[in-house]
Amino acid sequence: MPTRDLLMCSALIVAATAAAVGAGEITIAHVGIVLDAPPSFSERRLATMTEETAAIWRPYGVTITWLTPLREPEPGPADVRVVVRMPLSPHGRRTAGALEPSLGSVVFVDGIPDGVITIRPETVEAAILAARWNGRSFTEAPWGIQEDFAGRALGRVLAHELGHYLLAQKSHTQTGLMRATFKGRELVATDRRAFQLQPRDLAALGTRLAQFMATSPGSPGFQP
Ligand SMILES: [Zn+2]
Repeated sequence: MPTRDLLMCSALIVAATAAAVGAGEITIAHVGIVLDAPPSFSERRLATMTEETAAIWRPYGVTITWLTPLREPEPGPADVRVVVRMPLSPHGRRTAGALEPSLGSVVFVDGIPDGVITIRPETVEAAILAARWNGRSFTEAPWGIQEDFAGRALGRVLAHELGHYLLAQKSHTQTGLMRATFKGRELVATDRRAFQLQPRDLAALGTRLAQFMATSPGSPGFQP
């Protein structure tokens, strides 16, 4: 039986320093993401989230095609396919004590990520509750701003979890996208420089993308 290690990324406090990272020689890889988002999510929140994830990975040669569980995935250009689940609490109400402690997780089987990412929207929302907008609580901001904040935070958490998959690494870096913890205000800030890959990540990504390309040129290879 394979061992299953659940990777937890918690929302504790950590100091983070942005570092400029050049992409260098890049390989273009197409990642198909089957996104199982809550039906209650607004189009605006979804659009902000998916664009944020895509924008974080684009400089590194990773392009993302968004698929829905309702649509049979097309045999498009995806070199690799990932499923993203975003379960809500079964009770329908958020209470601090009942929240899952992690923002998201990736399951590794025998040291290899299995292609299913879980994002916990309610924990992400709780993490950004203390964020400020124009000197006030962001919960007092107009609806659209709140949706943008939530979408941006979700997109960054998803980008981080996707990093565990694309780098095939459970470990974290001290800074950048793959650091272990995010502050709420970092998740909503318009500046995304704190969510860049670090040199260690770039080396791992290059190796992994080469594997994808060798295994599945033009067809889905690492199916979840
Ligand atoms: Zn993590």
